[in-house]
Amino acid sequence: MPIDFEAPKPITQAQFMLKTVGEEMIRPKSRYYDEHEHEIPWDYIEFMHSAMRAMGGSSLAPRENGNGNDKEKRPPLGYQLIATQIESLAWGDLGFYHCLPGGGLGAAAVFAAGTQEQKAKFLARFNEDKPTFAAMCITEAGAGSDNSAIRTRAVLDEKTNEWVLNGEKIFVTGGDKSFTEYEKLGKGFIVVWATIDPMAGRAGMRAFVVEGGTSGVRVVKLEYKLGIRCSDTAAISLVDARVPFDNILGSPTVENTTTGFKGAMATFDATRPLVAASGVGVARAALEFLKEKLAENGVQIRYGLPPQKLTSIERDVIDMEIMLKSTWLMVIKATWMADNKKPNALEASMSKVKSGDVVTKITQKVVEILGPLGYSREFLAEKWFRDAKITDIYEGTGQINRLVVARQILGYSGKELR
Ligand SMILES: Cc1cc2nc3c(=O)[nH]c(=O)nc-3n(C[C@H](O)[C@H](O)[C@H](O)COP(=O)(O)OP(=O)(O)OC[C@H]3O[C@@H](n4cnc5c(N)ncnc54)[C@H](O)[C@@H]3O)c2cc1C
Repeated sequence: MPIDFEAPKPITQAQFMLKTVGEEMIRPKSRYYDEHEHEIPWDYIEFMHSAMRAMGGSSLAPRENGNGNDKEKRPPLGYQLIATQIESLAWGDLGFYHCLPGGGLGAAAVFAAGTQEQKAKFLARFNEDKPTFAAMCITEAGAGSDNSAIRTRAVLDEKTNEWVLNGEKIFVTGGDKSFTEYEKLGKGFIVVWATIDPMAGRAGMRAFVVEGGTSGVRVVKLEYKLGIRCSDTAAISLVDARVPFDNILGSPTVENTTTGFKGAMATFDATRPLVAASGVGVARAALEFLKEKLAENGVQIRYGLPPQKLTSIERDVIDMEIMLKSTWLMVIKATWMADNKKPNALEASMSKVKSGDVVTKITQKVVEILGPLGYSREFLAEKWFRDAKITDIYEGTGQINRLVVARQILGYSGKELR
């Protein structure tokens, strides 16, 4: 079968629409929300909710049958389309991307680890009238990279047939919008990872869907951050929080397996390439801005000349373009594998590692080449430099994803190589 590098229509349409959103709606507000952390861009949220619904779905979790057009006889485009949407939105502003209504990581966890009934029950809300959010809470103080060390406890109350959750989660992206009841938002949920048996290690890990407003659960803090300030990052405490028995994702008993932990990993296999896509968007924004400023100053990149005839800036720009394009190809490969239900742990982590490196390098280089223009808050280059770093931190740091890559290539288990 020939390899087709033409982007299919749903992807080019999404790119076209979101480019306009990025230029007209996001960029003009980007600096404002960077400087007014914890304010919520309601106009954008409401507009995007309507626009995404008009395009056929506001959840970023792909539908079971994919988003492809069956007549085209292509494989479903679910994750490839989402990656494109995320890249385009992050080009506008990475923090704004995180304010896109829809299921986010919370829905991705339901999608990866839930039953058909749970998917139907929890994912339908993202297409309803009000914009709705969901988040995933796995990280705890002392349990970030090694998330099997989580201490949040879930105990079954057999009298009421409810799970009782106790613990504290930190750095939850979108935690506030997913849990706190705002008049303008639909009822969201958070997916809380807890242990049903602290002695069982990874085998005891399970995820629970905790509905917004559940009694005993509180957003106790919103972080002040280096970048992506438009995105809320919450600490959430759970004190005797009761959730229905059926809200557990996965088996309610501890077998001698690690299915619970595998649910978390399956979520990340789906979402790490999406984080990588967001890094590509930020890097592209910075690189395009640099090229614009260079062009305004009469510097054109003379593609096709031998390297020794190029200026050092031309070589830098070409190097950055190569890095960017190769990263995007890795994203497309990892998402194509997810869409085609092929195991993609290796490719997902590789794309995430590469994107974390590339976006950090490109935004730094752009600030460097632009000199005072790069450092000034008059322009967004310094902001993209600050926003970029998160790509290398959340959903597994660069180091942790390198470990995943090494384990996959060398055939080691988590215990053998850590
Ligand atoms: C803005 C933001 C949003 C986030 N959103 C979410 C979210 O929505 N949900 C959620 O659950 N979490 C979220 N996180 C948490 C994030 O996933 C963790 O911060 C990350 O996994 C690292 O964990 P840690 O902070 O505990 O660092 P640590 O695990 O303490 O690591 C500290 C450093 O040590 C390195 N390190 C650790 N172990 C190893 C090893 N074995 N080998 C080599 N190096 C190692 C790490 O790479 C890192 O550089 C978010 C974080 C931030 C900053």
